[in-house]
Amino acid sequence: MESIASNLAAIREQIASACRKAGRRDDEVTLIAVSKTKSAAAIREAWDAGQRVFGESYVQEFLEKQQDPLLSSLPLSWHFIGHLQSNKVRQVAGKVAMVHGIDKVSTAEELSRRAVQHDLQIDYLLEVNVSRESSKYGLDPSSLIQAAEECFLMPNITLRGLMTIAAPDPDQARREFAELREALEKLRCAAPEPASLTELSMGMSQDFEEAILEGATMIRIGTAIFGWR
Ligand SMILES: *Cc1c(COP(=O)(O)O)cnc(C)c1O
Repeated sequence: MESIASNLAAIREQIASACRKAGRRDDEVTLIAVSKTKSAAAIREAWDAGQRVFGESYVQEFLEKQQDPLLSSLPLSWHFIGHLQSNKVRQVAGKVAMVHGIDKVSTAEELSRRAVQHDLQIDYLLEVNVSRESSKYGLDPSSLIQAAEECFLMPNITLRGLMTIAAPDPDQARREFAELREALEKLRCAAPEPASLTELSMGMSQDFEEAILEGATMIRIGTAIFGWR
């Protein structure tokens, strides 16, 4: 098996080349290394290879890793990318740079409530189910604007953009990424502060090049860095 360091180097090359193809600068795309199910030692290896931003999906596992002695003293930037249930919100509030998977107005409400309670400002993304697969989380694209309008009014949380998980087929994925980009453009027109809506979290190991071509600002890569789960 390739090492985490060499996997990271290869991914960074591919990101740079996709950015060139898209006519974008490679600092426009943040690589989130998705470390769910992987050990603190593996995360440490990625850190030693220069990776700074990590994504976790499961609350308990995330909290354990954050406190692991191998990692607890490092200024890692954690993103919570999993589906976040309302009753788990208080456990991640204040511990992550961004919450990606908010797909209900009621969960945003809880995030806001906890942010106010602890005097925090929390950045988050709304998850959109662009592939409209019933097995997936995410707001239906047709209800996005209405949901976001409610979210804009909530104190101490800032909507920074949109997140999605695309269909497995790369061509279809690319169309879905384009749809998410268009959804963000529409949302900006409805937003009281459009300038804060800058993020498109889309693209994983199988489809991050397509995502970069469609404007991804954050790609979430697990398998291609850490190996199979
Ligand atoms: C697991 C996961 C990823 C990473 O997927 P890979 O295919 O391993 O790159 C990205 N985003 C989310 C939301 C995930 O749950």
